Amino acid sequence: MTSFTIHGIGVSGGIAIGRAHLVSDASLEVKRHVVPPDQVPDEAARFDAAVRTVRTELEELHASVPATAPAEFAAFINLHLMILNDSTLSVAPRKIIEDERCNAEWALKVQMDALLAQFDSIENAYLRERKADVVQVAQRILKALSGQPGYIPPPQSDAEHDLILVAHDLSPADVVQFKQHRFASFITDLGGTTSHTAVVARSLNIPSIVALRHARKLIRENELLIVDGTQGVVIVDPGQQVLAEYQLRQHQFDIERQKLKRLRGTRATTLDGVTVELHANIELPGDVVEARENGATGIGLFRSEFLFLGRNDLPDEDEQFEAYRKAAQEMGGLPVTIRTYDLGADKQTGDAQRITTNPALGLRAIRLCLTEPHRFLVQLRAMLRASHYGKINILIPMLMNASETDQALQLLERAKRSLDEEGIPYDHAIQVGGMIEIPAAALALGLFTKRLDFLSVGTNDLIQYTLAIDRTDEAVAHLYDPLHPAILSLLSGIFKTAGRAGVPVALCGEMAGDVSLTRLLLGLGLRQFSMHSAHLPDVKQRLLKSNLEEIKPLAQKMLRLSDPEKLRKQLDRINA
Ligand code: PEP
Ligand code: MG
Repeated sequence: MTSFTIHGIGVSGGIAIGRAHLVSDASLEVKRHVVPPDQVPDEAARFDAAVRTVRTELEELHASVPATAPAEFAAFINLHLMILNDSTLSVAPRKIIEDERCNAEWALKVQMDALLAQFDSIENAYLRERKADVVQVAQRILKALSGQPGYIPPPQSDAEHDLILVAHDLSPADVVQFKQHRFASFITDLGGTTSHTAVVARSLNIPSIVALRHARKLIRENELLIVDGTQGVVIVDPGQQVLAEYQLRQHQFDIERQKLKRLRGTRATTLDGVTVELHANIELPGDVVEARENGATGIGLFRSEFLFLGRNDLPDEDEQFEAYRKAAQEMGGLPVTIRTYDLGADKQTGDAQRITTNPALGLRAIRLCLTEPHRFLVQLRAMLRASHYGKINILIPMLMNASETDQALQLLERAKRSLDEEGIPYDHAIQVGGMIEIPAAALALGLFTKRLDFLSVGTNDLIQYTLAIDRTDEAVAHLYDPLHPAILSLLSGIFKTAGRAGVPVALCGEMAGDVSLTRLLLGLGLRQFSMHSAHLPDVKQRLLKSNLEEIKPLAQKMLRLSDPEKLRKQLDRINA
């Protein structure tokens, strides 16, 4: 076997060395194509063969269950066998292949969608929840149709720290599940720098790379891999010399990290005495520990929707309240800015049914919340109740106009009134802010400075929407450019306008944690950064070595440049 390298986009730095573990997946996004009439019987036979393969797989799996395993395990496999053997999934698609002369994958998907729609009208909650099982069985058939093995044993937990997960794609919910594990690294074929999958990857603080395109096909199970998350390179089956070199680099990287952690208690003040707030972005309340360890002086963005992902039931008011209270209490009075749920686009809950052509432009974040005020009120009440136990701020994502802002504020008033009536305490001075992540909001900032207590710039989306690049699409990931003159001009405009209005503004997109942009943002006027905990020490170190008065004119000059090469050079000057 010869060594080779694969290049992608590094989303989380550091070096991992370990064995490949291929994550089995099958996307249900299949394409339709027409099958010539004389090949229709073959296509139907291909479908039958896939069903047989899955049946054998499940039967073997069932036979291999040890007597000591929990009873649910065998029952679960039996259920999947039953679903597979039901004619609605194993026979009906054949008829679709014949009637529509389409490929087997498409026929299976059409039939599965029809089945899932029927599930929605079932009143019995247990049966309704079996929807996920139908999808899993359909995925197994799809995998069999593509010739992939359907079952990869789960990793042994004691060897996890040596495993590098290799996946075609992972959903943000998959990645959140990794928080319970200790994998060395993960790499995927799809995804862009600021896709939510990448964002969550950063929070795991393990080296990871996305957009590798064909890694899942090229890498074999158990192969030795080096993942250089900083450079975005995977080295497959490295030679002895390369391995030794990377082991050394890994060691140096770890030492450097430990050293930086000593800055934890130091205030982030520039050489000329300007103090900057460095906050952390978190997904779950448990992330607060790491935020504190890395010296965060607050939580600038708690992406609350992660409490809603990967499950079919929604967390009720008490469950949400406990999560928010835990974060607020553990921060010991430091501010915790909780964003109301930003679902839609690449973050869907288990019960989401709508499939739209442009989900990022669709019913997402506050737009979705305003269409389901009852669900939104549950969250607002939970946040308000938790505000009694610490310093909570409420942040509303994806605001676009005044009316949405007013409606959200009215709902908050309603939630407050309901708590007043019940005599439940909350912080009456709770601050409400809005995310500036749609170009229209950035350009008409006055609408928001008038109505809100603070703003937070979401550059991941602001860049996505300004440059018209889908942040989840690896094919356009190379076009993601925080230094585009339009982005710099929008950012500078936001900082200036908010400053004039006396409204504090933070930045919580991935730009905030990119140490090469720290001085530029400081020079443009940013005084509050929020980023994944892992980036805090690096950014703080850079700030401690910066002189604002020197940087300001250099940063302003960036606004007058348009040539990418010149912009890069000017950035180098700022960072020199
Ligand atoms: C952003 O858009 O920059 C942001 C911080 O929010 P999210 O990445 O969750 O969309
Ligand atoms: Mg956003």
